[in-house]
Amino acid sequence: MREAIGDQVRIMTDYNQALDPAEAERRARALGAFDLEWIEEPVRFDDYAGCARVRAAAPVPIQIGENCWGVHDMCKALEAGASDLFMPDAGKIGGVTGWLRAAGLAEPRGLRLSSHLYPEISAHLLAATPTRHWLEYVDWAQPVLTHPLPVTDGHVTAPDMPGIGIVWDEAAVARHAA
Ligand SMILES: [Mg+2]
Repeated sequence: MREAIGDQVRIMTDYNQALDPAEAERRARALGAFDLEWIEEPVRFDDYAGCARVRAAAPVPIQIGENCWGVHDMCKALEAGASDLFMPDAGKIGGVTGWLRAAGLAEPRGLRLSSHLYPEISAHLLAATPTRHWLEYVDWAQPVLTHPLPVTDGHVTAPDMPGIGIVWDEAAVARHAA
């Protein structure tokens, strides 16, 4: 893949918790030559000690966070030194309040935060995050929104509307619900 797209495009890998720490270490070392942005969830999401072991051996940053419920889980991961990066899920971390708590933990540590799904909401949350990193983008909600989140040159522009700017296209919702 790196050969095909050249060195100007960032590549992230995501194992979705599929590996044990020993195999994750082996693969992380093998992937070290390909200038990856990160390796995501190499081991079971709550195996923070195992993830720390992979991190220590990996020549690539380790990313976790999407399965942490609230900042209590996030603190366990941070105390274990489980990752170089963190990507809370807007829902699981506790909505706006939980996200802002996570951003407060990340800022003094220089821990870069990316988002997990929900780009329409996460764009606003990242804008309020001093250590913001990447917005994970999916277009799943676009067919039922009156103001979809446009992507231009790799960036989104959140709609300038009250709240988080989500207005359901009721006709589209009814069409999809039928
Ligand atoms: Mg993931």
